[in-house]
Amino acid sequence: MPSFDAILIGGGVNGLACAARLAGKGRRVLLLEAKAQPGGGAGTVEFAPGFHVPALAQTTQGLDPRVMAGMGLERHGLAFHPALTTTALSATGDHLIVSGGRAGGPDAEAFAALHRKLADFARVLAPFRGIAPPRLTNKGNEWGKLARYGLGIRALGQAEFREFLRMILINVYDVVQDELTDDRLKGLIAFDTTLGSWLGPRSPNSLILYLNRLAVGADPLLPKGGMGALAAAMARAAQAAGVEIRSASPVARVLVEGDRATGVVTEAGEELRAGLVVSAINPRLTFQRLVGPRHLDAGFFTRTHHIRSRGAAAKLHLALKGVPEFRGADLRSRLVIAPSVEAVEACFNPGKYGEVPKAPVLEAILPSAHEPGLAPAGQHCLSAIVQFAPHSPKAGVEAARAEMLENTLAVLEAHAPGLRALITHAEMLMPQDIEARFGMVGGNWHHGELAVEQMLFNRPLREAAQYATPLPGLWLAGAGSHPGGGINGASGWNAAERILAEGRA
Ligand SMILES: Cc1cc2nc3c(=O)[nH]c(=O)nc-3n(C[C@H](O)[C@H](O)[C@H](O)COP(=O)(O)OP(=O)(O)OC[C@H]3O[C@@H](n4cnc5c(N)ncnc54)[C@H](O)[C@@H]3O)c2cc1C
Repeated sequence: MPSFDAILIGGGVNGLACAARLAGKGRRVLLLEAKAQPGGGAGTVEFAPGFHVPALAQTTQGLDPRVMAGMGLERHGLAFHPALTTTALSATGDHLIVSGGRAGGPDAEAFAALHRKLADFARVLAPFRGIAPPRLTNKGNEWGKLARYGLGIRALGQAEFREFLRMILINVYDVVQDELTDDRLKGLIAFDTTLGSWLGPRSPNSLILYLNRLAVGADPLLPKGGMGALAAAMARAAQAAGVEIRSASPVARVLVEGDRATGVVTEAGEELRAGLVVSAINPRLTFQRLVGPRHLDAGFFTRTHHIRSRGAAAKLHLALKGVPEFRGADLRSRLVIAPSVEAVEACFNPGKYGEVPKAPVLEAILPSAHEPGLAPAGQHCLSAIVQFAPHSPKAGVEAARAEMLENTLAVLEAHAPGLRALITHAEMLMPQDIEARFGMVGGNWHHGELAVEQMLFNRPLREAAQYATPLPGLWLAGAGSHPGGGINGASGWNAAERILAEGRA
């Protein structure tokens, strides 16, 4: 008799959400996390003495409402600062403020109309984020389910429906060129669309990523206490629901007995058994490292190598001995440097050939402007996501990291004169560092690229798209599964729902 109904591998937001949901329904759940603290991409790190920054993710578009309410996260201490406004920075100080679907400048009306249209389409797509993708077979009511969730689409008028189809297939470059004139706004939308992806603004189907972003939430949120406080609240909530969390317990492999996953073996050599095993880590690592080819169909195992997972987001951390000055910009806003849609495309192009962009585009926040305790008195920390870093740098990782840092600092200095002189520590994490530190294959934001051909019933692979895998008893629950990544918890919650619906735990 196994000691647990389910063993969860990985304590990121998805592992925690899945574990809490299963435990909340009375299942005995053990969660094994490799690191000293659960949280995964949601963490806070002291990268230089006294300077605390988000280890990876720096804001959230919002947790899935089922996770927020179902885990009672407010009761467990999770609170957010007021939603951040975005400042599209200009090197001349002519900044543009964007917030809640409204923007200043010459395109104020055009942007409001475009935002309304895209937000409406995003609302139609949002329900699909909360279901297991249907199986494309003739059996059962899977097509019926798709139709039920597609009611919002069917309710669109004919003209809107046509426009909706155009929007999910089009690229963001064409849309902003058609609808807007302000380069700052075009650059910002192109940046937000391609953030965390391996797509440039002109790549086919890029706009669907913007719709996906709007489907989660329009404005970024910062947890009070830093990103680590969000993970800590989720861990407390999971424990309150009955989950046993063991940190510093990396899993070495999934135990397979009689062609079924029956438990795990930790790196310390401990064998633990459960009715089922749920992996909330990267899907490729799950199949290739934790299961191995012996227990999987050869064709399926080969396809796990084909899950595309190129990362392009680098992470910059700066310790500053004074207050940076971005030509009058509000330091408590999200600062985006993406001066035009062409500038974003120009950063994507070199990455394709293993080169570093000359003038990277980026999103920066100053956590210490919200919570002074995150840096020593009178000092600041800056955290930035910088795109597009080459995932296979021609010159090697060390040279690429140095060039990426230099080029990024030059861009920052142009927007905040004197910033370089304030820097006491700098750290640039390239996709390769992110892979090594966080177990994200290729350093990819979503644990597998989020692109139309790797969405829904193809995520991460056709045979494992409903959270169950070809190995009986083994399930997936991480961002590599539908609907993808972000500090959100949707895939973990969906996986738990599917497991419960199938009566498997
Ligand atoms: C540079 C960068 C910036 C980002 N910024 C943002 C942002 O601002 N906002 C946002 O919403 N998203 C952001 N993301 C994406 C976000 O971090 C991820 O999509 C999210 O963390 C995925 O959550 P998860 O729970 O599925 O996986 P993870 O967060 O990766 O968690 C997986 C967990 O499993 C553990 N683990 C791994 N292997 C094992 C093992 N063998 N045994 C036990 N445990 C194991 C890991 O330690 C980790 O805790 C960013 C990503 C990158 C790369």
